[in-house]
This record gives sequence, structure tokens and C-alpha cells, in this order.
Amino acid sequence: MNKEDKNMNRMGILSSLIQQLVDVAYPELKGIDIISRWGRISCFATVSWISNKKNITITCNNQAKKWHEAALIGLLSHELSHLTQMASGRVENKTDIDAIRRGLGIYLAIERIMTGKYEDYTIRHGNDMYLGYRSVRSYLNEEELMHLDALLQEMRLIPQSNKSLKLPYHDLIITITDRMTEFTIDGHKFVIEGEIKESQVEIITRDGISYVFLHGQEIGKYEAL
Ligand SMILES: [Zn+2]
Repeated sequence: MNKEDKNMNRMGILSSLIQQLVDVAYPELKGIDIISRWGRISCFATVSWISNKKNITITCNNQAKKWHEAALIGLLSHELSHLTQMASGRVENKTDIDAIRRGLGIYLAIERIMTGKYEDYTIRHGNDMYLGYRSVRSYLNEEELMHLDALLQEMRLIPQSNKSLKLPYHDLIITITDRMTEFTIDGHKFVIEGEIKESQVEIITRDGISYVFLHGQEIGKYEAL
């Protein structure tokens, strides 16, 4: 395969994976248009929609273009599960468990290795969390564990905590209602006037505080854990 063909394939891969996931695991999302694309964003993925789940867009970080398909499936299932959840309470934790219940835990486990979450990643002072690789495993049945281990071997991927990752943030949820945009990062909600795009949000963490920037201007901050 030459380089151009490879690029084409990478462009189409997100929509074809989403289509397959909807077909096998998200019956309630059948017939709903979901736009997918790669982008330069501050986290691994974003999911955005206009109220009533219209104009759904899933953006994956360009960095994930190099990932094994299994890890991409894990990332996309977490984002698709967001679309089926109510946006309150332990959102990230519930979203992970939803993906596992739909039989996608194997892929979520691989995604967690790729995103450096070997142990649970607590957010909002312990009020929510992303399941780490080890916890995802604990939800899997024997057959799933067997498949996961076979896949890890095929990928030559050794599960370990990787603290040197450049992106500590996992994903960003964006909802646009009446020209107001609400976005949630690591469980922290920000509401701003107008419609914003995921590429306009930047998050930088210094000394345990995450600063949120929009168009380069600080609009808020939160304690990183
Ligand atoms: Zn999420």
C-alpha cells in the first residue's frame, strides 16, 4: 500500500469503525448521522452535539492515527457511550461501564493502555473516574480475558503504567444549546456564550492545576485531580 492509499484509509477508518460499532453494539444510535474526523485537540477525543443529539461529531486526536485499530475501537466506544448517557453524576465512570456492558471492554482495556491509564484515573476529587486498565479487566469474563490477552500478544503490547504521556486529559464533551456551549473536561463543566469548536479549547496543567483556554484566553481552571 503506498502512502496516499494509507492516508485515505486512515480518513475513512473512523466512520467505518463507528458504523460497525453502531451495528453491533449501539442499536439506539442506528440511523443517526455521526460525523467523524481527525483533529488537533487537547485530549484523545471529543464528542459534540447540538441539543437533542443533533449534528453529532466525534473528533479523534491526530496522535491516535498511529494506534492499532483495537485501541481506536475502545476510544470510539467510550465516545458513543457518552451519547447514550445522561450528562450528570459519575458520567465518565458510567460511560466506561456502559461500553463494557455492550461487550466492548476488551477494546476499552487496550485503549486505556494507549492513554496511559493503567490504574483508575480519579477526577473531580474522587466524585468520578475513568476506569484504568486493571479495573476494566476485572469486569471481563473468562472468554473476554482470553481474547484480550491474545490481542495484546498479537499487538506486542505490554500493559504498564506510562507516566510520560503528553496528554493527561481523556476526552471532552461539547453540547451546544441556544448559542451557548457547554463543555465538560475531566468532569468539570464550563458554559460559554456562542458556539465553539473543540480545536479552540486548550488545556494546560501546571503544578496540579489545569488551566482552560479558549482562543488563547484563560476562561477557567480546576485542580487536576
Ligand atoms: Zn468521556
